Amino acid sequence: MLLMKCSKCKIYTLNKTCPVCKTKTMSAHPLKFSIEKEKKYGKYRRISK
Ligand SMILES: [Zn+2]
Repeated sequence: MLLMKCSKCKIYTLNKTCPVCKTKTMSAHPLKFSIEKEKKYGKYRRISK
């Protein structure tokens, strides 16, 4: 089962398009979490600068 996610609405769906906004969904892979983490660290970096 492949879980998809709409980056716009931040909702999870099994459809290739978001049922809410009809935008193409992205597969919700664990890779996404590392991106979120990097974003967080980037935020901290910005604060310390
Ligand atoms: Zn959507």
